[in-house]
Amino acid sequence: MAQQNGNLAMWQDDGASAESKVFLGQILALTGSEVSRTKHLPGQGSGFVHAHRRNEEVYIVTQGKGWLYLDGAEIPIGEGNVFRISCDGRRAIRAVNDATLVYYCIQADGGSLVQATRDDGYRLPERATWMKE
Ligand code: ZN
Repeated sequence: MAQQNGNLAMWQDDGASAESKVFLGQILALTGSEVSRTKHLPGQGSGFVHAHRRNEEVYIVTQGKGWLYLDGAEIPIGEGNVFRISCDGRRAIRAVNDATLVYYCIQADGGSLVQATRDDGYRLPERATWMKE
């Protein structure tokens, strides 16, 4: 059964903390991925570099500008950027000094995808009101 457990506005915060992170997996009862939203205030960022044992990550920057530390390089990032980092990628993210950075991160088990949406989806005979016969 489909679930709609919220909207982006309810996962915002008061803006008071230097970093805020919300994990949506539990909120949305996800079973095949984890999704988080992170906000770094200007000049703030991850306090450590990390990698993953199993999960690759897709980052989607929705606000601001920042820096991505990836495998020793520091790469400028900004709103609209989307990037994938493999499990062993050594990563950290921070906001630039004059802008807040907000991004979503989707984690999924690296190498686990054995099919894609076009192969997995199938049509049903029922129709929504906007669909013509
Ligand atoms: Zn991670």
